[in-house]
Amino acid sequence: MTSAVAFRSVSRHFGAVKAVDSVDLDIGEGEFFAMLGPSGSGKTTCLRLVAGFEQPTSGDIAIFGESTTGLPPWRRAVNTVFQDYALFPHMNILENVAYGLMVKGIDRATRHKAAEEALDLVKLGGYGTRKTAQLSGGQRQRVALARALVNKPKVLLLDEPLGALDLKLREAMQEELKSLQKALGITFIFVTHDQSEALSMADRVAVFNNGHIVQAGAPEEIYQQPKTRFVANFVGSSNVLAPTLTERLTGERRWTSVRPEQISLAAGQDRLELTGTLTNASFLGAVRRIAVRVDDQVIHADLPAFVELPGEKGPITLSFERRSLNFLDDAA
Ligand code: ATP
Repeated sequence: MTSAVAFRSVSRHFGAVKAVDSVDLDIGEGEFFAMLGPSGSGKTTCLRLVAGFEQPTSGDIAIFGESTTGLPPWRRAVNTVFQDYALFPHMNILENVAYGLMVKGIDRATRHKAAEEALDLVKLGGYGTRKTAQLSGGQRQRVALARALVNKPKVLLLDEPLGALDLKLREAMQEELKSLQKALGITFIFVTHDQSEALSMADRVAVFNNGHIVQAGAPEEIYQQPKTRFVANFVGSSNVLAPTLTERLTGERRWTSVRPEQISLAAGQDRLELTGTLTNASFLGAVRRIAVRVDDQVIHADLPAFVELPGEKGPITLSFERRSLNFLDDAA
C-alpha cells in the first residue's frame, strides 16, 4: 500500500545543526500519527519539510507516492494548522476560513458555502460574521482547523495545535480532534512535546531525539516496551534499573525499566523483589507514590492510597512480575 507520507533518508541540516538527521518513516493513509519529542528534537522541522516550507538537505519525501522534490507548498495535498493559529484579524471568521479558496480563485458563493460547512464541522456554525478578537482561545483553535479543512487536504499537519489552551479545554479538544479525524478519514500528523497527548490521541507515535526517530510504534508498545533509557524516561515515568541491579534480579547485566504502577508490596513466588529504605511518600489522589532507596538508586512505586506503609526510613520490599521488567537496548 502506498504511504500517505514517506520519508526516505531525509536530513535537514542548518550549518552544524542536524535538525533532522537521516529519517526514514512511512505514515499510512488515514493514520493519526504523532511526532513526540523534547524541544529542539526536530519535530517541527519534519512537519515543515512535509508542508514544503523547508527543503531537505538530502533525501526525499513522497506524498501519496509522489516525490515532493521541487514541489512548492501550494502544490502539495497538505495543509497546516499552526500553534499560533495565524488568523487574519481584519477578516471575519467566514472570510478567514474561506481565504484559501479565494486564493485558488474559487467564486465567492461557492467558497462561502464551503467555509460554512467547515465551520459546522468544528461546531462553529453561525459564528461566521464575528471577528477573531471576539472568540475564545478554543474557538480560535477551531477556526484555524476549519481554515485548513476547507481545502479538503489529504494530509493535515498540526503543530502543537492545542498548546495555547488550558488543560480542561485541551482535553476536550483532544477528544474532538480524534473523532473528527476518524469521521473524515484524513491523515493527521500531529507534533507535540506532551506525551499524554500523543499516547491518548495517536494510532502511532514516533519519539524524536536529536533529529532522529529513536522509536516508532503504537502508543501501548512505546509505553510498555520502550527500547532505550531515553524513551523510558521521556514517555511516562519509569524506573530505569542500572545493569548491576538488573544482574542481581535476573542474572543478566543489562539496563532495564519498570513502571511505578507495576510495582507493589505483594509477596509471591514468581515475583522479583527489591529491598530498600523508604525515603518518601506523596499522596497523589488516586495513588500514593513512594520513593525507596535501593543501593544508590531511587525506585518509585505507585501504590493504592490505602496501603499501609512501614515507618519512615524503615526497610521495605518492593515486588513486580518478571514480565513487567523491560530490557533496554542501551549498552551496559
Ligand atoms: P520545539 O518543540 O521547541 O518546537 P522541535 O522538536 O520542533 O522543537 P525543531 O524546531 O525542528 O525542533 O528544531 C530542531 C533544531 O533545529 C533545533 O536545534 C533548532 O534550533 C534548529 N533549527 C530549526 N530551524 C532552524 C533554522 N531556520 N535555522 C537554524 N537552526 C534551526
